Amino acid sequence: MKKLFKKSVICLTAVFSLAAFSACRKPNTGSQMVLTSFYPVCLITQRITQGTDIQIQNMAKPQTGCLHDYQLTTLDMRLLSTSHLLIINGAGMEHSFIEKAVDETGINVIDSSEGIFDESGINDEHEEHFHSDKESHDHDHEMNSHIWMSLDMVSVQAQNICSGLKEAYPQYSDIMDKNTGLFIDDVNSLKELEKVNETDDDFNVISFNEAFHYLLEENGANITAEIEIDENSTPTARQMAQMSDSAKELNVKAVFCADDNGRVFAETIGRELNIPVYILDPLTYTVSSDDYIAAMKNNILIISEAKNK
Ligand SMILES: [Zn+2]
Repeated sequence: MKKLFKKSVICLTAVFSLAAFSACRKPNTGSQMVLTSFYPVCLITQRITQGTDIQIQNMAKPQTGCLHDYQLTTLDMRLLSTSHLLIINGAGMEHSFIEKAVDETGINVIDSSEGIFDESGINDEHEEHFHSDKESHDHDHEMNSHIWMSLDMVSVQAQNICSGLKEAYPQYSDIMDKNTGLFIDDVNSLKELEKVNETDDDFNVISFNEAFHYLLEENGANITAEIEIDENSTPTARQMAQMSDSAKELNVKAVFCADDNGRVFAETIGRELNIPVYILDPLTYTVSSDDYIAAMKNNILIISEAKNK
């Protein structure tokens, strides 16, 4: 799936007037572009390329959200054909289209997830089954592709993106190293902030979005049920009743959701159990923050609030 860089292909000769800033929101023009697959990858890449002339364009439209079942559009194919590089989240997030993208356009790919799951022995075979397997409970043994929501994993993603970009744009090596270091410093200060949430108390929660898995776990939450809601899969009344019964038994203290299709179900459970519902930011939409660190800080503070209630 991954391709090595053809160094000769990449030569940055044009002078660009467009800054990388806000590239995740505004489409760029020009043929010397770096594409990011979707918003979280764009946000991280933007931090790394600050102060360079590298142009970033985000492929998925602002409202796309995650890319689990994404199908390439004609415009995407055109972008892929005219760009030098595609930076992907990896870990299965782009599995529905990455092969087609590489096969048909020959684009070089930086996989930001490289190495993250190697130690646990999880490989691509498991990836393919992740979303076709509808058992939404107890899939710790499988890969959750929302790795940008883990402070441990996002630092690795940043390093992978940085080293891939350095290979393609060696003239910016120093500045990108510096930017990546600063980003990781910021991530590490968020980890300090998370420490207040590491208590011994049982903090049982329900999550209506798989994107929050790592973040909730890193903040000491015990996820008793995790339900992924989209247009194609909504829980039945019976499943909702079962969830509510087991939540009562397990003394669930909070329900987490994003401001998306899952919210109405989260609020129903919250009302039934008389427990609060908290909205976290999965960072997959451009309507939310344009600053990874600020958005994650806010998420951590919300979890603290839920924990201390
Ligand atoms: Zn997702």
